[in-house]
Amino acid sequence: MTDLKHKVTIEKVERVAPDILHFTTERPNNYEVVPGHAVMLGIPDSGQSPGPFSPTSSPDDPYLEFYIKIYRQRDGLTDQIEECKPGSLLEISDHFGKIDYKGEGAFFAAGTGITPFLALLRHLKRQNIAAGNELYYSEKKRVELIQEEEFREILGDNAHFILTENEFDPRRIDAEFLEEHITVDAAKMFYICGPLEFEDEVADWLRARDVDGSRIIREDR
Ligand SMILES: Cc1cc2nc3c(=O)[nH]c(=O)nc-3n(C[C@H](O)[C@H](O)[C@H](O)COP(=O)(O)OP(=O)(O)OC[C@H]3O[C@@H](n4cnc5c(N)ncnc54)[C@H](O)[C@@H]3O)c2cc1C
Repeated sequence: MTDLKHKVTIEKVERVAPDILHFTTERPNNYEVVPGHAVMLGIPDSGQSPGPFSPTSSPDDPYLEFYIKIYRQRDGLTDQIEECKPGSLLEISDHFGKIDYKGEGAFFAAGTGITPFLALLRHLKRQNIAAGNELYYSEKKRVELIQEEEFREILGDNAHFILTENEFDPRRIDAEFLEEHITVDAAKMFYICGPLEFEDEVADWLRARDVDGSRIIREDR
């Protein structure tokens, strides 16, 4: 699974937020893309350990796409990814993961935890089955949101953006927020992705309302 057996050339790099880069790369022949899943990604001969990233492109796209948050102060993998240019090589593994679409529901994302949901919701939109899902996406500031307009196009009023550093109305997705906004409908699935404490808080709130674990979709942690 973590064998970095595919080398891909970067085709395009674009800065979409102060710390977020958008990459497209070539897609190897017969390379399987599963929306919601991640791959291990590294820079050949960099000496850095590879890290997990969720491609946001669809199975039909002839390229691969990633949104990558750069942690400059860490002198780690993403710090070096920031130096990569069109023509640079990356190495990637096959896909892995537990975030699969299992039916309509509510998606809760914080920070770059949005990337598997961007892949899934794009894929659902192409099949005309995205409506009926809801998104609750939290970031510090509006400028850091990934593809805000696209989420609005896909989900309309069901796309909700929660800004923890909003000047006028700072909110976070916590127990109080969930209590106010979420109905634990028996038919609904719940998808969660973000920092561990965020995922645990949402999952604990759901379990306390008797939501069965089979209706809570998140990565193994
Ligand atoms: C399944 C999965 C899918 C993912 N998909 C994506 C994706 O699509 N896009 C994306 O951008 N990320 C994604 N991530 C996260 C990504 O893998 C990591 O952000 C990346 O590997 C960090 O690498 P790094 O070596 O640059 O930073 P690291 O050295 O690993 O440090 C980054 C981490 O350290 C924390 N940190 C920063 N500064 C400090 C400090 N001074 N002291 C202590 N901690 C600090 C940060 O909050 C961050 O969590 C995903 C993670 C998982 C598990």
